[in-house]
This record gives sequence, structure tokens and C-alpha cells, in this order.
Amino acid sequence: MATLATTSGLTSLRSQRLAAMRSGELGSVHSWELVTAVDGPGTRLTVFLAGCPLRCLYCHNPDMLEMRDGRPTAAGQVLARVRRYLPVFRATGGGLTLSGGEVLMQPAFAARLLRGATAMGVHTALDTSGFLGANLTDRMLADTDLVLLDVKSGDPDTYRRVTGADLAPTLAFGRRLAPAGAEGGHAPEVWVRFVLVPGLTDDVGNVEKVADYVAGLDELRPGTVTRVEVLPFHQMGRYKWAALGRRYERGATRPPSPELTERVRDQFRAHGLTTY
Ligand code: SF4
Repeated sequence: MATLATTSGLTSLRSQRLAAMRSGELGSVHSWELVTAVDGPGTRLTVFLAGCPLRCLYCHNPDMLEMRDGRPTAAGQVLARVRRYLPVFRATGGGLTLSGGEVLMQPAFAARLLRGATAMGVHTALDTSGFLGANLTDRMLADTDLVLLDVKSGDPDTYRRVTGADLAPTLAFGRRLAPAGAEGGHAPEVWVRFVLVPGLTDDVGNVEKVADYVAGLDELRPGTVTRVEVLPFHQMGRYKWAALGRRYERGATRPPSPELTERVRDQFRAHGLTTY
């Protein structure tokens, strides 16, 4: 009987936890850090949510791709930390950045964090590949000040090679962000990020497709994309792959040369885009 009672107690705990995750009261959080000059303006509290549907060859966070890679964390706990940093955010023009993994794997949890931070008057940023953009509700969009949109490739075949998934959802998500302002609604600022990987994403034609697409977003709503960040590939995530005992395919890839990085940045600049 004791065993039965214990088993039913565990089942009930598990179903309570699942219900809390569905409602967004609880999320799976891998880690958080306080950063400056990355992930948005000012000093940011960046929260890394666990779980990602993509499998990028060069992923620098392979230790947070599964939901189980995070710890169950109450939305209230994250928001209490946001509240604690209010003076820092005010002094630096910073705020909360949700990153991962992929934030939109946990839309209900993300929605609570965005709502809570916005209610405190805190600037919010969402770092996403856009692959699960359909999970972002209009309410969440209204609570988002900045979207850091990772466009990993402009060519569908290259995108599939890099991520193992389709490019189309990301493109559709970006286009959804652009017209929001044209209709008089809340329009998030967009920073596009492009990871430059020699031999994988550096092809002139591939970069041109990304630049064309991004410039097209600006045509839909001028001022949508306020910056493009070309992020040179690095090997800093390599040790994590080794620690996980997983094969890392980009082990022999070198970071791009300064000349290559400038060539790619110039391609974006040629489309009138402010590029770093
Ligand atoms: S989208 Fe980001 S977290 Fe997900 S696999 Fe790609 S690089 Fe890693």
C-alpha cells in the first residue's frame, strides 16, 4: 500500500508540474547571466531557456538543446531577479533578453516573462531563430521591444545543411514582424544576426540572399531592421561538444579572416543596412 501511495503521489506531482509548464508558471531554464553590449542595448539579464528544435552544426550551446537540459524554474523567480536589477536596467537602458536554446519551445513561459517585464517597464528582447515563430502570439509580440533574429542562411539547401530544418518558417516570421508597425500596432525593433562560417555560410550568393531578404523587410516597414550583426564563427563551444561526448563536425573549421568578414559585412552594407 505504501508503494502504491508513493507512486500515486509521484504521478500527481508530475502532472502538477506538467500543468504548471503548460500554463507557463514553470519553465525549463538552463542558466542566466548579466551581460553588457551584447544581446540588446545596455546591461541585460539574459535567460537561457532549454530546448531547441534545430541542430546547427556549429551550435555553441549544445548543452541546452533538450528540455531536460534545464531546471524547472518558476516565472516568478525570474521576474524577481528582473525586479532586483531594475536600477541597473534604468541606469544603462538595458533589460531582459530571452535566449536559448530556442525561447519559442516554451511559449507560455516566455509569454509570462515578457508580460511581467513589460509591466515593470523593462525593455524586452527575444533571441530566436524564428523557426517556431508561429508560437509567438500577438500578445507576446506586443510585449517584445526587440527581436534578435538569427538568419542562418538565405539559401534553403544551405539552411537545411546548417540546421537540419526548413528555412521558410524563419522567413515568414521575419515578414510578420515587419508589417506590425505599418498597421499602427506595436512594432518591435529587429536586429538580424548572421553567423559567418567559412565553407558553410560564406558563399557570396548565400550572403546575397540573406541581405536581399533583410533589405526586403525594411521595404515592408522602413526602419524595421536597425542593425545586422555578422558574427564570425568561433570554436568556443567546441569543448561542450567534447564534454557531451558528441561528434563536432566543424572541428577543422577556422574562424573567418578579417578580410572575409569585411567582404560579408560590405555585402549587407551595399543593401543600405547598418552592419557590424
Ligand atoms: S538555433 Fe541556436 S541553440 Fe539551436 S541548435 Fe542552432 S545554434 Fe544551437
